[in-house]
Amino acid sequence: ETCNHVPLALVSPSERRDYGEDRVINLDVGDPIMYETFWKKMGKKATVVIPGWRSMSYYSKGQSLCWFLEPDLCEQILRLHRVVGNAITEGRYIVVGTGSSQLILASLYALSSPDSPEPTNVVSAAPYYSSYPSMCDYLKTSLFKWGGNASKYESDGAYIEIVTSPCNPDGFLREPVVNRSGGKVLHDLAYYWPHYTPITAPADNDISLFTASKCTGHAGSRIGWALVKDAEVAMKMVKFIELNTIGVSKDSQLRTAMMLNVVSDTCEQIGSSLVIRSESFYGFGHRLMTERWCRLRQAVKNAGMFTLPDFPSAYCTFLNQRTQTRPAFAWLKCENKDEDCAALLRRHKIIGRSGVSFGCSAQFARVSMMDRDDNFELFIQRISKIASEI
Ligand code: PMP
Repeated sequence: ETCNHVPLALVSPSERRDYGEDRVINLDVGDPIMYETFWKKMGKKATVVIPGWRSMSYYSKGQSLCWFLEPDLCEQILRLHRVVGNAITEGRYIVVGTGSSQLILASLYALSSPDSPEPTNVVSAAPYYSSYPSMCDYLKTSLFKWGGNASKYESDGAYIEIVTSPCNPDGFLREPVVNRSGGKVLHDLAYYWPHYTPITAPADNDISLFTASKCTGHAGSRIGWALVKDAEVAMKMVKFIELNTIGVSKDSQLRTAMMLNVVSDTCEQIGSSLVIRSESFYGFGHRLMTERWCRLRQAVKNAGMFTLPDFPSAYCTFLNQRTQTRPAFAWLKCENKDEDCAALLRRHKIIGRSGVSFGCSAQFARVSMMDRDDNFELFIQRISKIASEI
């Protein structure tokens, strides 16, 4: 998720070697390491062995329009959406990608108009995911270009709106904001899972993107998938991936299929008891995120110089209870509008990402909530102390 952000460069070599209590904590990237604890407990149940002869071909054996999609992964994606109830899969084509990052580009390629004299504008409402602008513009393609904040978009003609729901960075559920003819909408649903947000209805979009990175925490496997309504659009996406990487690692697909299988198993074994439910993957994630958000809100209150977004609660159809949103990121705002929030955090050895990267002011900064327990502990201690040290 970094691209043009090189957070390690912000850390001096001596700081990088420092593992002590005084070390710099890097919460710039949304690296979902906190799920390690769950997967360690799963032990052999979540261990994949792939014999040397398996999956040597470029091709997969399934009948899918996406010729490189492993049938095991396809089956487990369908099963997980059925178990969680967060997306309609009937009448959809599944396209697998090397992370949802590759699928964002594949979707833009498929949704833009190759015959148009002008590149199609790609917009997203601020605060938007900080990688969208550079993803759109780094190849300087004539197919599409970054068109900025969707809330301020006024041009006529074709456009693509990316709707990130829940939103990275601020955590709110989102709807399209432009709603003009000639527009196409791409839904980036990386965080539409029950540990982050109440599941209120199954997603029913033209294109919805999901990723194992945020769903199971296996960002390193680099597997994402798209649910696509239109066959022609799905075929163009497949073509993009064929030209780009001739498919997607089979080893990664098989491992991800296994992880999704374990997640669905743990969810299906829970019956209706909430106590047992907390042992499911999403029960674990929900409990951990709830604890972390509670501690962060307390620390922010103690510090007295930041605010956090307030989220409405909603009935989660998966957890069968009213739940609060507990985003993967904290979107901190400094009370003082002249304060540079990321610079303030940096002085306290916390690396966050400035609001400027998300199309907002430097008064905001985004901080990952998904790091290991020890780093999260240090983060809380430092945030609590900030006011007294100023
Ligand atoms: N979309 C959003 C909103 C994200 O936050 C991220 C990762 N931070 C991605 C897409 C890309 O994730 P990946 O390529 O790991 O699937």
